[in-house]
Order: sequence, then C-alpha cells, then structure tokens
Amino acid sequence: MKKTILALLLSSVSFAAVAAEVNVYSSRHYASDDQLYAAFTQATGIKVNRIEAKDEELVERLKAEGARSPADVLILADAARLQAAQDMGLLAAVDSPTLASKIPAQFREPNNHWFGFSSRARVIAYDPGLVTEAQAKNYATLADASMKGKVCVRSGAHPYNLSLLSAMMVHEGEAKAEAWAKGVVDNLARKPKGGDTDQIRAIAAGDCAIGLTNSYYYLRLQRSEKPEDAKVIDRVKMAFPDMAGHGTHVNISGGGMLANAPHKAEAVKLLEFLATDEAQQYFANGNNEFSVVAGVKLDNPELNAVSNFKADPLNVAAIGAKRNAAAQIMDRAGWK
Ligand code: FE
Repeated sequence: MKKTILALLLSSVSFAAVAAEVNVYSSRHYASDDQLYAAFTQATGIKVNRIEAKDEELVERLKAEGARSPADVLILADAARLQAAQDMGLLAAVDSPTLASKIPAQFREPNNHWFGFSSRARVIAYDPGLVTEAQAKNYATLADASMKGKVCVRSGAHPYNLSLLSAMMVHEGEAKAEAWAKGVVDNLARKPKGGDTDQIRAIAAGDCAIGLTNSYYYLRLQRSEKPEDAKVIDRVKMAFPDMAGHGTHVNISGGGMLANAPHKAEAVKLLEFLATDEAQQYFANGNNEFSVVAGVKLDNPELNAVSNFKADPLNVAAIGAKRNAAAQIMDRAGWK
C-alpha cells in the first residue's frame, strides 16, 4: 500500500515537471509581450500557451467555455474591462503577499480579483501652434467653446474614454461629467473614429488641433525611427492635464486568475512574475508604459522624462465600477 502511494506521488511529481504550463487569454496587442512570456518560461520552466483576441471575444469565449475553460490567466487593458470580467464572476481572488506588497493599492482590485501590472496616463495631444500649453494642461479645454471644430477623439464607447469620464464622475459628479462630454461632442472636428494614434496623426495632418491619447502611443511615435513619425512628433506635443487639480487620469493594463483555472499554482506564479523588475522593464522599455512597482530601473529616456507627473490617485477599480453609468452619459452626449 505504502509503495503504491509513493509510486503515485512520484509519478505525479514527474508529470508536473513535464507538463507545467499556463494558459493565458490576453487582449494586449503589443509585440514586446512575446519576450515577456519567453522570459517567464526561461525563469520558471512553465510553458505559456497564449490566445490573443479582442477583449469582448475573450470574455464571450470564457462564458461559452464555462467550467471547462482551459484558461488560467486573463490579461486585459483598462480597469473597466477587468471590472466587467470580475462582475461576470470570471475571476478568482488571488491571495499573494508578493502581489499585495508590490502592486500599489491604487492599481489593484481591493479584494485582489485583478491587478494592474503597468500604468498609462490619458494625456492631451495638441498642435502648439493652435493650442497653448496652459490650455493643453486641462481636460476642460476639450469641452471649451474656444475649441469648436478642433477636437479629434476615438469612440466614446471605448474603455479608455469611459474610464476617463468615470474618473470625472467620481470627482465632479455626473452632471458636470455629462456637460463635459457634451462639450467635447460640440467641438468635434470629425466623427469619432480610429485609435489614439490616429488622433495624434490627425492633429499632425491639420485635421484638428487637440485630442486625447494614452501616453504610450505618443511615446511610441516619439521613439520611432521612421521619418514620418518624427514629422508627426515635430508637429504634435503631449501635455499631462489636471496636475493643478485631481491629477492626470491613469489606468492600467492588468490581469487576474480565472475562477475555473486548471493550473492555479502556475497562474499565480505568472501573475507574480508580471510584478518582477524584469517584467516591469518589458512593459516600460518595450511598450512605453509606466512601471507600477516602485524602484524599477528603466532603460527608456523618453518615458523617464515624463514620469514625474501628478497622477490622479483614484483607485482603478472605483473607476471601473462606473463604466456602465459612463456609457449611458456617452450615449446621451452623442459621443458615438
Ligand atoms: Fe492600447
């Protein structure tokens, strides 16, 4: 009997050694993530199987797969999306002293259902020939009558804009947030379309004077070696708004462990790896996102040069919780 148990134990140990793997569903779409997962496998021997798709597709897939889902870790950009996944019951709480100590409370869900691993600022991109620096340092300028016909933005249904509006709702109340959204719509130079980089390019092309972008899209163009990108950056500047007030809106890209994860131990290891200096450097050096872990040395002069801004200290889960109300305001404002 004892021998059988020992044999069973040995076989399960060797099975684990051979079969250690973790299945990741990720909506991040940045090339530098390949190296990130390769580094995890190198460090731990755990193989990463990754499925990349848009966030809605991943969530639909997880719902369809239910308890039989092979997914262990879900990685999404923006707290609004992670909070939505949690509200659907997809995520399990992860009790990790490592994550609790390394990830600032602002950047994780209070009950540890998900964690932010990189942060990004929602900044203003502008043509300094048409908009002053003082104007660009204020989200209110986008809704100011002086900007009539000069604003380019992506869809109001996109989580990046929903989360910015959610933060305003928390700080200023719903009525003021709605007045702002309506003001932005009144100032549009064209119908909302494209991603953040498209708004920066539209400003460079003279289609508009001011818009919103996540900081890493601007920094990517700034660090690009392509002459056409250098021309864009010559023409377009970036400003961190509201530093005199609540601070610039910051959001996260992050992830959590799925409630039905078949490889729970490996899932926690991967999440903890994402908080190591090595992983933080991939986010920062590879994709120009701010490190959320304190004291990580970054090899990215352009990112370091702008890291010293005053960020809004609002908890990202509190922002994510407002997403449905924010979407209703966007609808009423006509920010399609
Ligand atoms: Fe993005």
